[in-house]
This record gives sequence, C-alpha cells and structure tokens, in this order.
Amino acid sequence: MSYEAPKIRLIMELRKQGITDKRVLGAIERVPRELFVPEALRSEAYDNLPLPISQGQTISQPFIVAFMTQALQLGERDRVLEIGTGSGYQAVVLAKLCRRVCTIERYRSLLAQAETCFEALKLHNITTRLSDGAKGWPELAPFPRIIVTAAAPSMPSVLADQLDEGGIMVVPVGAPGEQTLLRLTRDSAGFHEEVLLSVRFVPLVEGMPTR
Ligand code: SAH
Repeated sequence: MSYEAPKIRLIMELRKQGITDKRVLGAIERVPRELFVPEALRSEAYDNLPLPISQGQTISQPFIVAFMTQALQLGERDRVLEIGTGSGYQAVVLAKLCRRVCTIERYRSLLAQAETCFEALKLHNITTRLSDGAKGWPELAPFPRIIVTAAAPSMPSVLADQLDEGGIMVVPVGAPGEQTLLRLTRDSAGFHEEVLLSVRFVPLVEGMPTR
C-alpha cells in the first residue's frame, strides 16, 4: 500500500496543531512510521494516534513526537539522550536532526527490534543501551539535550544532573491521569521549569524486567 496520502494528511494536521518547525515536519515526513508499528496496524501508521507495540508499551502519537522534538530545540551538532527507546521511532526522528542519539531501553526484545529498524534505515548515529534509563548514562554525560518518553513520578533529578549547562530536557512527569510535559532548562544560575502540555505516557519503571 502507498502511505503518501495519509502521510500528507498527517503533516497538514500537525501544522494545524502548532508544529511550525520545518525541520521537525521534514523529519516526520521522511521517517517511515509503518516500520515501527505492528504489521497488523500498518494501515493506521499515519493516523495521529499512539499505537500498541509489544511488552504492553506504546509508540507515541505523531503529534507528541513532533511536539517534544520541537520543544527540544535541537541543533545539528547536538547529542541527545533518549530514555525509553520503545519502537525506535522517536530515536529515528531525532537522528535525522542531530549528530548523535544515545537511547536507553529496559526491554531487550524492544531494543533488538528497534536496532533492526535502525539498520534497515542505514542510520549510524544511534547508540543503544539495555539498562535502567532512570539512572541516565553517566559515562556519556553531560548531554546538551535529554528526552524522556515514559512518565516519571516527579522531576528526575538524576537525569537533570546529567544535563549540560545551556541544556534542555523534555520529560513527562506525574501519576497516570495527571501527567504534564515539562521542559527543564539549565543555565549558570540553575534550573528553570516550564509546563508545556497535559499528556498520557506509559510509566518510567525503575530497575530491569525479569524476562
Ligand atoms: N520513544 C518510544 C516510546 C516508547 S514507550 C517510541 O518512539 O516508540 C516508553 C518506553 O520506555 C517503553 O518501551 C518502556 O519499556 C521504556 N521504559 C520505561 N521505563 C524505562 C526505564 N527505566 N529505562 C529504560 N526504558 C524505560
């Protein structure tokens, strides 16, 4: 099937929803979302909806991916840390816009599947790690940008501490049903927090799964 018509419709919808950054819209247009959704749901790949992936997780709604990417204000020389690789879709959108994406997932099977997609798309600027993303990636810190794609119960200070001066972190925070997307910026004086949006994410779970 051709995805061209639904893709154009999606881009128009994202514009109407306030996604104005042309680089972000261009990246969404160039990444084949159908590769990241379960085969049975491919016809819905360009609907502006989250979709289920394995391990009870979800691939975020295209609007949320675009909104978070826009809020990150990525520069092409930036390195970004992503917590929650999931399907790998958000990582690939980021990889189109910056120098390197370092992405952490706690489920081995999800990470393996995402890595297969990165290879199929011949992307060589994504570094993956199987571990508890709540701890961040201290060996590679500090990062100029951090994006968390699972909801933390409160502002994760461990991750905030891995943010470079002048850095930006976009993170959903709060209990199920009352989550908000926050943008944390760090300058020489300290941290500054902005509330961006009400959101619904799967929770950030500490520790590793047993299977
Ligand atoms: N960015 C993903 C969204 C996946 S949903 C995408 O584009 O598809 C959130 C993901 O965060 C899930 O895969 C979940 O397993 C992962 N996650 C939750 N807690 C985590 C943790 N502590 N460390 C790493 N990954 C975590």
